[in-house]
This record gives sequence, structure tokens and C-alpha cells, in this order.
Amino acid sequence: MKIIALGSPGVGKGTYATEIVQKYGMLHISTGQIFRENIKGGTELGLKAKGYIDAGKLVPDEVTIDLVKDRLGKDDCKNGGFLLDGFPRTIPQAEALSGFCEMDMVINFKADPEVIIQRLSGRRVCKKCGATFHAVNIKPKQEGICDACGGELYQRDDDKPEAIKQRLIVYEEQTAPLIGYYKEKGILKEITINEDFGNYKAEIMGRIFDLIENGTE
Ligand code: AMP
Repeated sequence: MKIIALGSPGVGKGTYATEIVQKYGMLHISTGQIFRENIKGGTELGLKAKGYIDAGKLVPDEVTIDLVKDRLGKDDCKNGGFLLDGFPRTIPQAEALSGFCEMDMVINFKADPEVIIQRLSGRRVCKKCGATFHAVNIKPKQEGICDACGGELYQRDDDKPEAIKQRLIVYEEQTAPLIGYYKEKGILKEITINEDFGNYKAEIMGRIFDLIENGTE
């Protein structure tokens, strides 16, 4: 199965994606995470992407499309399923993707605007493995430390107020049109989740798995 996770920054798609790939044994391909790893490693790709990401803007399509095309061409993607988290984010990216890969399903994750702001401003990410936590909703067992690998948790620069504002504008202008694009293709499913993950994980994931397997929540 090949799934695209769509939705505004801060909607929780990375958190849901992690659970989905675990249940179905799929690969989790997050373009944001690949960029962050490259920035950390000081690679050429990281250097190209950093300025855009810190400013809350999108990395140019050519760079992002090449990155994904290359990743999906690897052997582990040829034989198994995968979930794309954070790609495509523009219509040209979606069109390019359709030229090298046929996707089965697009899930548009939704939440109310105040929930999105609260999720973004409280998000904490592991420096080492990229796992995501939340200062209030998904607390790690030990403050500031990743449950999964013991790495240090930090707040992404692009989760600070000015960048958040910019990212939400970019989402509305460039990414939201993908909802209509995939609706027209007949592969879009939508789900609204306002509950916090820490307290309602089983219920939330039950609804998402039903949506994937039966087409309804
Ligand atoms: P994310 O972790 O998905 O929130 O992505 C973090 C940042 O990486 C975004 O705000 C963009 O600057 C960049 N990025 C991730 N995916 C893409 C994409 N598909 N196209 C362009 N920029 C992207």
C-alpha cells in the first residue's frame, strides 16, 4: 500500500504516520525529516534546504522532487509499501510524483486552527532519532529526553511563532489545493482529529485504521 499523509503543519500527521507504518509494516518517508538529517550532517542538500526551512518557506520543487524520486527508486520501496509524510506539498510536486509512482490513497488529516497552533508551539523533537513529543499532549517519560532512544529533545526553529505564521500561509497558498486535486482523482479520504494524542491514542488510531481499511471511520 502506498499512502500520502496530507494536512496542515502541526495537524499531527507525523505522529499518526509513525503509528500507521508500524501497524502495516510500511516505510515512513518524511521529506522534512530527510532535510533535517541532511542539515545536521552538513551535506550539500542540507545547505541548500536550511535557509528555506528556517524561514518557514518551502524548499524549491526541483530539489524536493529529485530527492523523493531518488528515495522511491531504492530497493526497499520497490518491494514494499510506504507512507509519504510531507510530500507532495505543491501541485507541481504532485504532478511529478504521478509520473514516477502511483499512489493508492491520500489521507487528509484535519484539526481546528486553535488546535493546530497549540500542537505546533508545544512540539518537541528528538535531536537523535527525530521522534516527536509535545510539551503538554505527548509528554516524554523524562522531561527533555526521548523515550525511544534517550536523545535530547528540542524545539525546531521553524516551530517558533514567526515561522509558524509563515508556514500556515504557505500551506494555505501552496499545499491546500492538493485536497481538491486528489479529490478529483478519487483517492482522497479525510479525518478530523482534535483530541490530544496522549490521552486518546487508541481511539484516534482506531478511527484512522478503520478509515484505511474500510474507507469510513
Ligand atoms: P515538516 O517536517 O514536514 O514539517 O517539514 C519541515 C520543512 O521542510 C517545511 O516547512 C519545508 O520547509 C521543508 N519541506 C518538507 N517537505 C517539503 C516539500 N515536500 N516541499 C518543500 N519543502 C518541504
